[in-house]
Amino acid sequence: MTDEYKHKGKRRQLVELLRSKGISDENVLEAINRIPRHLFIDSAFEEYAYQDMAFPIGAGQTISHPYTVAAQSSLLHLKKEDKVLEVGTGSGYQTAVLIAMGAEVYTIERQKELFDFSQKMFKKIHVMPKYATYGDGYKGLSAFAPYDRIIVTAGASQIPKALLEQLKVGGIMVIPVGGEKTQRMTAILRLDEMKFEKVEYGDCQFVPMLERTVKK
Ligand code: SAH
Repeated sequence: MTDEYKHKGKRRQLVELLRSKGISDENVLEAINRIPRHLFIDSAFEEYAYQDMAFPIGAGQTISHPYTVAAQSSLLHLKKEDKVLEVGTGSGYQTAVLIAMGAEVYTIERQKELFDFSQKMFKKIHVMPKYATYGDGYKGLSAFAPYDRIIVTAGASQIPKALLEQLKVGGIMVIPVGGEKTQRMTAILRLDEMKFEKVEYGDCQFVPMLERTVKK
């Protein structure tokens, strides 16, 4: 499958839909306009790829709704070349959006099957994270810490301590926090070594953040 005019046209319509739903960060909208989402999902869903829908990506996981990707990306208030840790690479779509926004992305995925899939996707669309690894993001990725921004794309029952530790002072973490079915989108600002501020946004639904890796 390739990226054709019809896909580009549908992407532009998706961007307008996201705008009408309140997404105003032009850097986010431009990234969504650039990344071919239809290549990240099963070809059976191709014609729906640019609707605001979530789809299965294998290993019981899902690629988030475009609105969720856009909203979460907006909350990061990214600056070009910010060093970003992403927990939950999944299909690699959100990773690609962050890279298109100019971030240096370090990404970690606990399911080997999805890690392998995302690696193939990055090569296919020529969008490369700084570093991608298979591992348990519950512990963060201390080798490259601290990070300007941290984004978690799975629902956490609580905010992992390691992630708070690996956030720079002045940095922002965006993470869905709550139960198994619904969570609250939450932004954490690190004010100084010891002080964090928490801001809660709307309800959202993510697959759960789980500890330890899965080999298949
Ligand atoms: N951002 C992804 C959505 C992935 S769904 C996309 O755009 O496609 C959430 C992902 O988080 C799943 O792939 C799941 O395996 C992963 N995940 C859950 N807990 C994790 C953990 N502790 N460490 C790393 N990845 C985790």
